[in-house]
Amino acid sequence: TADGDDNGDDDGDGPARAAPVVQKDEMEFQAETRQLLDIVTHSLYTDREVFLRELVSNASDALEKLRHLRAAGGVGGGDGVKDGDDDDGGGGGVPLEIRIETDEAANTLTITDTGVGMTRAELVSNLGTIARSGSKAFVEEMKHKEIARDAGDYDPFGQGIIGKFGVGFYSGFMVADKVDVRSRSAGRIGEGGGGGGGDDGDSAVLWESTGTGRYTLSALSPDVRQDRGTSVVLHLKPELSQYSDESTVECILKKYSNFVGFPIYLNGNRV
Ligand code: ADP
Ligand code: MG
Repeated sequence: TADGDDNGDDDGDGPARAAPVVQKDEMEFQAETRQLLDIVTHSLYTDREVFLRELVSNASDALEKLRHLRAAGGVGGGDGVKDGDDDDGGGGGVPLEIRIETDEAANTLTITDTGVGMTRAELVSNLGTIARSGSKAFVEEMKHKEIARDAGDYDPFGQGIIGKFGVGFYSGFMVADKVDVRSRSAGRIGEGGGGGGGDDGDSAVLWESTGTGRYTLSALSPDVRQDRGTSVVLHLKPELSQYSDESTVECILKKYSNFVGFPIYLNGNRV
């Protein structure tokens, strides 16, 4: 069956549910995040394709963070992550890069980076809440714009508002009805506190959401082979299948992501 149900259950009907899940927890988005997601998902957006710029820039930020941490000695030889990145800089082991894959049959677009990755606790705080002042300002602005919606003219993003506020990661929900984030932290040191459950060591974590109210977090079995870094899988809306077309994606990348300081590969070919 197509993965057409939106009931958020765990019936395993998704196309890419290969990874053995150790434990799966249901979580709720912070109220402000729900508001933002609702706006992002339901507004008429004339320039949807900037979602890719946002996700590629997150990938690039994550790679940059890894580079800084290495320079500061935070990760490297002693990080305990046996993924071959135990040298400095961007030399051997897992290279610092962005890999984008299109799958027309599955109607998915996947953005992978070999950057710093996220622990379970970081997934919760970074993707489940709006910590950034930019997004808070966005939500405020949107409250004012609702007046415009009531007047029948609601196209908030049409004014380049994403560029202004940086809706960032959530812009994926403009084009996808489900987003999966699979991440493995490069292993940071000195993350004080760590309050209960934040310490998930080496293993990869899977975050999944349909953008409605809730998300799930799954601990993946430690023997799941996963490089350091993050993969964002967009399960595209059926009517937006153009974003699983390689040449379309290549055009968008050339338009928005010229200035990324790390190599980008699209289906294995350097863009
Ligand atoms: P911003 O990039 O402006 O901080 P986003 O909504 O784009 O806001 O992302 C929110 C946060 O989620 C980021 O600050 C980062 O901590 C985390 N994040 C998003 N994508 C990635 C990624 N690919 N790798 C690591 N962390 C990420
Ligand atoms: Mg961002």
